[in-house]
Amino acid sequence: MRYFFGCGCALAIVLFSCGQNPFAVSAGAPLSGENAMEYVRTQVSFGPRPPGSESLQKCRAFISNELQGFGYRVEDDAFTAETPYGPIRMHNLIARKGDGENGAIVLASHYDTKLMEGRNFVGANDAGSSTGLVLELARVLASKDDPLDYWFLFLDGEEAFVEWSTFDSTYGSRHLAKRWKREGVAGKIRALILLDIIGDKNLDIYYDINSTPWLMDLVWEKASRMGLQPNLSRYKSSVLDDHIPFLDIGIPCVDIIDLNYGPENSYWHTEEDTLDKISPESMEKVGRVVLEILPEIQKKR
Ligand SMILES: [Zn+2]
Repeated sequence: MRYFFGCGCALAIVLFSCGQNPFAVSAGAPLSGENAMEYVRTQVSFGPRPPGSESLQKCRAFISNELQGFGYRVEDDAFTAETPYGPIRMHNLIARKGDGENGAIVLASHYDTKLMEGRNFVGANDAGSSTGLVLELARVLASKDDPLDYWFLFLDGEEAFVEWSTFDSTYGSRHLAKRWKREGVAGKIRALILLDIIGDKNLDIYYDINSTPWLMDLVWEKASRMGLQPNLSRYKSSVLDDHIPFLDIGIPCVDIIDLNYGPENSYWHTEEDTLDKISPESMEKVGRVVLEILPEIQKKR
């Protein structure tokens, strides 16, 4: 993710064998920040999780098993990305029950952590928190039978290997947006809600001017009505993140993101991004905002 203030792939569809839910939390039970936190602890236990690493592969297996435990089909959208370090095999995960016959709402996060050679960067917040919360939302929404389907997307390769640019960043979302456009899937998606860096104990969600205005306003309105201020402050920013490739193909998107992590953002992309800096309460607040806006999006279809 990057922000400014003041502003070829081979496709493999794999159905993994059914997994066990290690926390034994039943699908459909109410949202719990503590569950989301448990999902973050598990991710962090794998260590740094850059694209192509064995630890990210373990993390992917964990996410996939959880999703299948909630009754979703999980597609492994595998592709080879051309990176400054040469070709790297990457895998987006897409979890679905329905095929979006009446349309779909996508909840998304990246699940890779930034490659920081020689450093123990475990990414509790970036992107452990958003990955944990999307997984928790998948659990909560597993038994919902709304007109628009809920799809859950875990994107690989969001982080830049060397320096953020159009070509060195958002590998998974750029790949999938191209594919969804080509296959006519994009037209089914009524909204894509992207979560990124949402676990900070001191939550400051920004108003992203790149997000689709009606969706961003919906997030804002709900957050205010739920009394989540002053944590959710209306700082305007222009965020470059995984929502951009989907916006570019006409999908309404919102990025819910906290751009102020630690003093002067000093925990972001450093070894300071650890479990003790994030909280179940922050993840639960963001989760509640998401659950509150879903009925509005359902009505809008
Ligand atoms: Zn990041």
